[in-house]
Amino acid sequence: MKKSATILTLMISALAVVFFITDGSPAFGADTKASSKENKDNFRQQRMKMIRQQIRARGIENPEILAAFEKVPRHRFVPERLKKYAYQDRPLPIGEDQTISQPYIVALMTRSIEPKKNDRILEIGTGSGYQAAILAELAKQVYTIEIIESLAESARTTLSETGCENVYVKTGDGFKGWPEHAPFDAIVVTCSPEKVPEPLKEQLAGGGRMVIPVGQNYDQNLVLFEKNKGQLIEKQILPVRFVPMVDEKGRTY
Ligand code: SAH
Repeated sequence: MKKSATILTLMISALAVVFFITDGSPAFGADTKASSKENKDNFRQQRMKMIRQQIRARGIENPEILAAFEKVPRHRFVPERLKKYAYQDRPLPIGEDQTISQPYIVALMTRSIEPKKNDRILEIGTGSGYQAAILAELAKQVYTIEIIESLAESARTTLSETGCENVYVKTGDGFKGWPEHAPFDAIVVTCSPEKVPEPLKEQLAGGGRMVIPVGQNYDQNLVLFEKNKGQLIEKQILPVRFVPMVDEKGRTY
């Protein structure tokens, strides 16, 4: 009697260990076609829920923007161990002390610049590449600059693995913009300087829109600028918290 109770306890613990290690998914054959399809469907369901509850429910209803969020597999842009949180209502760490922005903030920034099919867009702060992939669904070309080499490299890989062909990633200091490809119809800045960098103002086309978190010590406002006859017209959107824009020596701008 005692022996069988011990065996039972052992069996339960072994099962618990297997469950813990595999996170509930099958321990073997996880790579079979059927289970990878199941995973894909599961992420797709989570993505649809994210669009409904985090984006539409907060008033972003533009069908092209929602379609872009439906198409881009956000879980592919986060580290393997965080994939299960990819569709939650929050930013997530992507390594090097940087983050992928919360889905709603990506949607809000995207809507604010009103991307059009023929637009050429500049993004500063590639990070995971997710914002660039969303913009690439809505515009002709996206030029994106990341100061941390390893992040730029892994964003390139993810973008190419997810079939995104119209994004160009450069490693460097985005403060200076990308003059060779200027002017841009829109500029999206996803790291925060204290003031709007002059080169970015210059590289914005007439009638163009720039969205940028401006501020000090994480006390920032998301601001939209529209270039009208050479002048920038400013519109405050909401208080936000982005990582600071830094130069190659790590000094904040
Ligand atoms: N858009 C990203 C999130 C970016 S987080 C995404 O969708 O995942 C902000 C990024 O800006 C970080 O990766 C950080 O390294 C980068 N960054 C900071 N200062 C920069 C600069 N001067 N030029 C380019 N990138 C910069």
